[in-house]
Amino acid sequence: MICPVDRQPMLAIEYDAIEIDYCPHCEGIWLDAGELELLLKDDGTEQAPLLSQLQRLKKSKERSYKCPRCTLRMQKVFSSYLPSVVFDACPENDGFWFDKGELKAIVSSSNHTAARDVLVNFLQNIFHGPASLKEQNHAD
Ligand SMILES: [Zn+2]
Ligand SMILES: [Zn+2]
Repeated sequence: MICPVDRQPMLAIEYDAIEIDYCPHCEGIWLDAGELELLLKDDGTEQAPLLSQLQRLKKSKERSYKCPRCTLRMQKVFSSYLPSVVFDACPENDGFWFDKGELKAIVSSSNHTAARDVLVNFLQNIFHGPASLKEQNHAD
């Protein structure tokens, strides 16, 4: 897949049954529809509250990107659970695009320890290799 921001090829990485498309150039992340849900799901039972509260941002100064799947222009969305993080959603519901740090901010704000671990491990593996996992601080 091609990065919607800088047109660089992205890396598709499967991690814990979730496929994450990652752009090493801008450090953005694409998640297909359902993958964010998988990441944030609480014991696989109910929909993550964050996702049930998605709203469309009417006006944004942020640059808008085209969906890497269908090339339609994506919409800026946010969750009322975390209004400070604005990300991009395909109008055809192909998935979500997160600029550098946005997905991390969302996952860190949630109570989903499992999702945090998945993402932290994933990001650390990419950036620093498995060795740095030892430095990870497991508070619980
Ligand atoms: Zn990129
Ligand atoms: Zn699309």
